[in-house]
Amino acid sequence: MGSEGAGIATPSGIFEFLMESQRWKREGFVSFQRSQLEQLLRHARNHVPFYQTRLDCLFDRFGNIDWEKWREVPILTRAEVAAHHEALQARELPPGHGKTKVMTTSGSTGLPISVRFTRLLTDAGQAADWRAQANWKMDWSKPLFYWERVPQDRAPPPDKPIGQWGPPARNGETRGAAHIADSEIALASRMQWMRAVGARYLFSQGNFAMAAALALSGSNDHYPLHVIQIHGISADESFRALARKAFGASIMAMYSSKEAGRMAHQCPACSNYHVNAEMVHLEILDDRNEPCPPGVPGRVVVTSFFNAAQPFIRYEQGDIATWEKDCVCGTPLPVLRSIDGRIYHLFRRRDGTAYAPQVMDEFRAVLGATLWQFVQTSADEILVRYMPAQARDPERETAFARLLKDILREDYSIRFETVSAVPLTAGGKYIKYLYAADGPRPAA
Ligand SMILES: [Zn+2]
Repeated sequence: MGSEGAGIATPSGIFEFLMESQRWKREGFVSFQRSQLEQLLRHARNHVPFYQTRLDCLFDRFGNIDWEKWREVPILTRAEVAAHHEALQARELPPGHGKTKVMTTSGSTGLPISVRFTRLLTDAGQAADWRAQANWKMDWSKPLFYWERVPQDRAPPPDKPIGQWGPPARNGETRGAAHIADSEIALASRMQWMRAVGARYLFSQGNFAMAAALALSGSNDHYPLHVIQIHGISADESFRALARKAFGASIMAMYSSKEAGRMAHQCPACSNYHVNAEMVHLEILDDRNEPCPPGVPGRVVVTSFFNAAQPFIRYEQGDIATWEKDCVCGTPLPVLRSIDGRIYHLFRRRDGTAYAPQVMDEFRAVLGATLWQFVQTSADEILVRYMPAQARDPERETAFARLLKDILREDYSIRFETVSAVPLTAGGKYIKYLYAADGPRPAA
């Protein structure tokens, strides 16, 4: 990303720019994205060994970029990132990108990769969060709570804020306090703490918020919040209904990754996601690497303009998403209808073909489940792991097994297992569809 005009390269400067650019015409983003991509591509080609020749297809003999060739740039896989970590590091950074940090991410495939990212990427993510919060009319003067895993030795004393949140105050207005609670602390204690400080907003990994909403909705307790901003999973209608019931709150899901930063935030007017097109170029591709039209789900391939330290150019993010043509709110930003599951394993039919399972969460009522997970354990068996709302009921299981075979359009044998909690990944993510049979995981 161009840090030229270094004035904008602060979280506040980027925020002001994002508030302005979301009023552009849609066509304006094409040329803006190309100018951002061009800077990244030239930087990568000159300073990142991995990209020294990989981008040649784009450049003519005079060194000009032919955008018609964009889709010839090889897609970067997670396995390549793991194997070529050193070669992916930039030997130098353009000015204004700031210090770098390294984080390891486990991701959906369980293959850990290290990502070195710049201050600028972090700042841009902060600015994108502020834009989303502004669009949601969140009140930065009210207290916010973070639920996160906090190492014991770094836990702040109870009731003491860790600082303030929201963009720096413009007219001397007071910014609200930001508190943080370890998500491992008992829910009752977290709620008590939130009551004590009058928190109006919650920022949390989606699973923690969902678990809390489930627990509260089954009790007489509830806590009024305005917005719950979540990351890690997408929010379907049943989760949103649960959040309304337990917290009276709206869910704002954001779509982000360590590799690409903040990619999209949910629209305040509907459940679509607005892509941060000023920060990322996002493609949705089918199994022949052709772009998917609106309404057709495909693989997310993303290029972040900001990460000059370890560029991810046409990176296969490991998610499945679907374009929406336009959003009711009229945003000029590209609009995603859905990001399916976030961690999403394809299943296999008995004849070996791969497909994307889709079981609507409304059907949980048929089984009497509060949360569930579908695991393909072999070519002909699906395990339904679930938390029963009441006592386990064999008749409900039989009825749901019939329904499930219809939905998946395959005559699997269906097995049930009740659990007190659906197991999460090492990174704390909920996987609704898990492929755990022998052999390679099916790819789209
Ligand atoms: Zn919208």
